[in-house]
Amino acid sequence: MSEGIAGGCACGDVQYEMQVPPMFVHCCHCRECQTHSGSAFVINALIETDRIRLLGGELQEISVPTNSGGPHDIYHCTRCQTALWSDYGHRPGMRFLRVGTLDEPSLLPPDVHIFTRSKLPWVTLPENVPAFRVYYDMEKLWPAGSLARRRKIEK
Ligand SMILES: [Zn+2]
Ligand SMILES: [Zn+2]
Repeated sequence: MSEGIAGGCACGDVQYEMQVPPMFVHCCHCRECQTHSGSAFVINALIETDRIRLLGGELQEISVPTNSGGPHDIYHCTRCQTALWSDYGHRPGMRFLRVGTLDEPSLLPPDVHIFTRSKLPWVTLPENVPAFRVYYDMEKLWPAGSLARRRKIEK
């Protein structure tokens, strides 16, 4: 195994490696993420699709409805159905990888908290991480290197 950040599904069939650190990490407190996870939020690492190396297992994409009306496909292990990453908006070059599926989720703490308007009241956010009631301005928050990576992605 190389230097990447490793992860996988609950049954172990799907194994992957992020070959580079993500561009940015969202902690999303929206109602859809709460419903999909059955929990308080989803942590998504934004990364180029071609920097995720699939080492084993098979994925199945499932389209879920969204409040915005935009497309959202979630990729699951075909065997245990663990959700591994999302394609928001049919952007083939970019994935929102679920940090909870990493072998060491603590490696990627959130860079921003979003949709805090539906944050569960007993979740206390750290004061040193930006938080927004809805969304935020990427140009203002992302490091220059991540913005450059993002611009290289086709769509
Ligand atoms: Zn599995
Ligand atoms: Zn969300």
